[in-house]
Formats: sequence, C-alpha cells, structure tokens
Amino acid sequence: MTEVINPATEALITSVDAHSAESTKDAIGRAADAFGRWRATDPAERAELLRAFARAVDEDSENLAALEVAEAGHTISNARGEAGNVRDVLNYFAGGVERHLGDQIPVAGGVNITFNEPLGVVGIIVPWNFPMPIAGWGFAPALAAGNTVVLKPAELTPLTAIRLGELALQAGIPADVFQVIPGKGSVVGQTFTEDPRVAKIVFTGSTAVGETIMADAAKTMKRTTLELGGKSANIVFGDADLELAAATAPYGVFDNAGQDCCARSRILVHDSVFERFMELLEPAVSGVVVTDPSLEEAEMGPLISRGHHESVAGFLEGVDIAFTGSAPSGAGYWMAPTVVLPKTPRDRIVTDEVFGPVVTVQRFSDEAEAITMANDSPYGLSGSIWTRDVGRGLRVARGVDSGALSLNSHSAVRYSTPFGGFKRSGIGRELGPHAMDSFTETKNLFIATD
Ligand code: NAD
Repeated sequence: MTEVINPATEALITSVDAHSAESTKDAIGRAADAFGRWRATDPAERAELLRAFARAVDEDSENLAALEVAEAGHTISNARGEAGNVRDVLNYFAGGVERHLGDQIPVAGGVNITFNEPLGVVGIIVPWNFPMPIAGWGFAPALAAGNTVVLKPAELTPLTAIRLGELALQAGIPADVFQVIPGKGSVVGQTFTEDPRVAKIVFTGSTAVGETIMADAAKTMKRTTLELGGKSANIVFGDADLELAAATAPYGVFDNAGQDCCARSRILVHDSVFERFMELLEPAVSGVVVTDPSLEEAEMGPLISRGHHESVAGFLEGVDIAFTGSAPSGAGYWMAPTVVLPKTPRDRIVTDEVFGPVVTVQRFSDEAEAITMANDSPYGLSGSIWTRDVGRGLRVARGVDSGALSLNSHSAVRYSTPFGGFKRSGIGRELGPHAMDSFTETKNLFIATD
C-alpha cells in the first residue's frame, strides 16, 4: 500500500495498492494480448473511442481537478487547465488516427509504399509534478497509433491516473488496452523497463533515473522517449518591455511552486537594466498569492512532500537571498517564492535543478555572453528571451540549446507543438504533429511493376 498525502494539509487522503513485479508482468501480458485486437480496430472506430475518452475526461474535469489539487497541491485554476489539457490531447491525437499516413515513393521497376506500424505495448512512467498532462502526452498518441499502454503514476500522485483509467473503460476503450499500474519505480517501473514484451518506454522524471532506464532499456532494444530535468534561462535584454518581463518572471518559475521541468529558474539580466529590473521584480514576487490551492485566488501551492521540502531548503543554506514572497505557516509543505543573488556562476543553486520556488538573478553584458550563460548547463529544456529587437530575439533563440523557447512570453508548451529537451534534458519529442511517429515503426514495401 502507498499512502497518498495532501501536501497542503499533511492529511492522509487514501492508500493505494502497489503492484508487485508479478502483477505488473501479468498486466504487461494482458496488454500484449490486447495489442492485436486494438491495432486491427477500424481507424475511424479507434478515433471515435479516443473522442469518447476525451468527452468522459471533460465531464469529469471538476473531479479530476479536485484530485489533482488534493494529491499534488496544484492550484485549482491550474488543475482545471490540466484536466482540459488531457481532453485536448486526446482529441488532437484522435484526429491523427486517420491522418497518420505513409508515403508512396516511385523507384525503377516499381513503387515503394510505407506503413506506420504500431510498436506493441508501451510503458509510460510519470513523475509527480504534472501527473495528469504528462500521462496524457504519452498515452494519447500511443493509443492513437494503435499501441496498448501500461501506465505507472508516481508513488506520491496516483489518484488522477487511476481515475483516467476508469474513465477510459467507461468511454469504451477495451479492457487491457489502457491499464494504470500504481507502484514503486524500482518495482513496477523497473519491470516495464526489463520485460521484453514492452516495446517502448516513455519516461518523464529526473535525469538520474532517465539514465538508468536508458541503459536498462538497451538490453532489449526498447525505444525510449525521455523527458528529464531542466535549468532554463530567462534572458532579459536592455530594450525589453521591462515592466512586463518583471511582472511575468514569477510565473515563469514559481508556477507549480517551481516544481516544473520548464521553470525559468535562472534570470539573466543585461547590466544596463539590472537595478531597475530588480526594483520591479520585488513587488511582483511579493504579489504571488501562496495559499490553500483549492481557493480560486491561489497562484502557488505547497511543495509535494516533506522530503522534497527538505531538499529545496538545503539549496538555500548559505546563499544570499535578495528577497522573498510570503507563504502560509503551519501544516503543509510551504515555501515562499525566493530570489537569490548567486556568489559565483558555479554555485550549486545556479548549476543544479532545485525544483522549488527559487530563482537566481545574474548579470550579462552583451548578447554573446547571454547565450554562453544560458548554455552553461547540462540541461536544455526551455527558456525565455525578452527583447523588442526581433532580429536579436531570433539570433538568441537559435543560439540557445533548448527544445522549447518563448520570445516575450513564458509560454512554450502546447499540445499541437513539439516538446522535449536538448542535452541531458532528454531524448525525443512529445506532442505536436509528429508525435505519433515515435509510437510506430516505418515499414517499407516494394511492389514490382515490371
Ligand atoms: P523521478 O525520476 O524520481 O521519478 C519519476 C518516475 O520514475 C516515478 O514514477 C518513479 O516511481 C519512477 N522511477 C523511479 N525509479 C525508477 C526506476 N529505477 N525504473 C523505472 N521507474 C522508476 O522524478 P520525480 O521526482 O517524480 O519528478 C521530478 C523530475 O522530473 C525533475 O527532474 C523534473 O525536471 C522531471 N520532469 C521532466 C519533465 C519533462 O518533460 N522534461 C516534466 C516533468 C518533470
């Protein structure tokens, strides 16, 4: 059994059965048996089943959002958006079922045609920070492409995934096509990675676990998509709309209490506007409403767990704090949004993923230095660039080694656009028009005409 704790109150919500390696293997076996029937389902019917699943998610969205608030501490407004994201992702990839086409390539003596063949059983391993959307980004294109799915939610946040499994069944997705298997990473996740009947692993989580999964998956030549850590830069040039850049910077990093792989946790500001930017940032940070996440006005909730709170607090020992916002006291894993002025660029707070409501602010003197500083990280997931000079914005965007950037905005994740990381932020892309490719093998058939 795994206890599920509300991070805003520390109250026990419920306990969930954790699967063993044996019961996980049984589930993989059922998924393998169901694969033949699911891949052979008329594409129009498969698309309609995914749309029915999307409708079921939509009808249950208030309940799903409440579960996400309770188990993950997400603000109610974000949690509603996340349930809506699962619905939208299902609808988007339902539209792909009948449009994921092959090629016809004329050659001497005949023609080649290509088929997109589903892989088989896809194992999806999800972290606790965005339990609902990250699950959906994996299962929607996997199912659309004709694969069956076994999904392992994080130990701390299994409830929305379990509910999504129930909704899939209610919507008519055949039994065993989409199974949710709660349990430990070292048991259920490890079994997904080792079992030869699993053709692909979609893993979102820490870089350390991602590396282990990649190594283990190699033994059975599994396909992998890895979405890992981040330490993204928010680059503010002297000609930026400084008021807007400062007013929005907290939302670029403190959203979900900074437990966001895309968090712009390193703000880089041009020398010429550094002091002014800091003057503007302080009220923006103190204005972040950190409170009971079930309240409509909440903008930031608690950290996920006591252990994680200790880890984030450890990063703050001995650092120079410029200023902080506020946070509730008493029960719950609360932490105020915190702005740090690093002593050196090699400080742990600058180089490591903190995964909490902490941001560093550093200076740069020119465009080249901004790009060098942004790239001075093993990660390359996200980032923002603020400038009124579009040419410069494009030059810097091309120079920064990151997979999901935004210019004069902090928004870079949409179901219709590709998402994923450079360097140690991962391998592969989720979402967007090409996501179904990574859930199929290309088969080429030559047909002789002579
Ligand atoms: P984690 O790596 O500890 O766990 C992620 C999942 O992997 C959990 O379900 C866990 O049970 C499972 N797991 C653990 N050990 C395993 C093993 N040996 N084999 C198989 N599965 C195993 O990560 P976390 O703490 O839950 O999440 C935070 C991390 O996720 C951060 O580093 C964050 O940046 C990253 N993340 C990345 C993205 C992205 O899209 N790039 C999105 C969200 C979170």
